[in-house]
Amino acid sequence: MATPQTLYLVIPCYNEEPVLEETHRRLHQKLTSMIEQNLIAPNSRMLFVNDGSKDNTWGVIEALYAQDPLVAGLKLSRNRGHQNALLAGLMTAKEYADMMISLDADLQDDVDAIDQFVEQYYQGKDIVYGVRSSRETDTFFKRSTAQGFYKMMRALGVDIIDNHADYRLMSRRAVEGLAQFKEVNLFLRGVVPLIGFPSGVVTYERQKRFAGESKYPLKKMLAFAFDGITSFSIKPIRLITILGLLIFAASLIALAVLLVLKLIGHTVQGWTTLMGSIWLIGGIQLFSLGVIGEYIGKIYSEVKARPMYLIDQLIIR
Ligand code: UDP
Ligand code: MG
Repeated sequence: MATPQTLYLVIPCYNEEPVLEETHRRLHQKLTSMIEQNLIAPNSRMLFVNDGSKDNTWGVIEALYAQDPLVAGLKLSRNRGHQNALLAGLMTAKEYADMMISLDADLQDDVDAIDQFVEQYYQGKDIVYGVRSSRETDTFFKRSTAQGFYKMMRALGVDIIDNHADYRLMSRRAVEGLAQFKEVNLFLRGVVPLIGFPSGVVTYERQKRFAGESKYPLKKMLAFAFDGITSFSIKPIRLITILGLLIFAASLIALAVLLVLKLIGHTVQGWTTLMGSIWLIGGIQLFSLGVIGEYIGKIYSEVKARPMYLIDQLIIR
């Protein structure tokens, strides 16, 4: 192989104090062995992004930085969420690295897959997606909701890789491409396939979190899924239009029937149907307004174009 290139591992961390030292130990081992095998350049790093943690995550990162030259740290001004933290890390890393791999601080994603990611990079791939071979380590609830989500996204016409979370390698030019997507409502899994360039897939086993708790409670998971849908598909709005048309057509038919009934003398009491339709139509209208409102809300946050993150501090050498 020609000269080995620089790899940056980008690791978003939110309240990850209990896992960071173990994570660092394993990643240090991985990077060191890859450097020794001449697979990656000695100036490769693991970049921990502190996403406004409430615990001492940043303190731990600083301590690791002090003792290990392979460590770099980025501190955001406040908590901005997983996707924004990842973006901040990638945008910083691209100034130093040839290739970047994003992975979670809890190392649920198999660290040994990194070799395969890098191998595919050297074979000319700009984006390598980590795909989970199974979801056995997930709870039944998470497994079924996640699979339903991927199915729905596909049905809505969004190009999304099945069972791929945010464990992926990107080359510098792919990240530079990503930088040109200006959307504020960031859903990386939907955006990255839009970048293009040659891409590959690596399958791996996903482990259980070895310490600490998931930072994706149900509420965040739902918000994330909803963001994914409304950022990439306007089909829900179209569905409402179709629904409205159908109901309108149905009501025309019903009206005709009612007129005929009236003419032949069958006047019905009709209170039940009347109330029924008022509530039904009212519900549909409210729902439709809500969906449209969601999109308007999204446009609102996009036009404001607020920064997705602010950097408080970068420690790197
Ligand atoms: N994370 C983050 N900011 C947040 C929430 C999560 O940077 O607001 C990070 C978290 O530290 C972890 C990754 O995103 O490295 C994935 O979170 P987690 O492992 O809790 O999610 P799960 O694996 O349960 O989906
Ligand atoms: Mg996790």
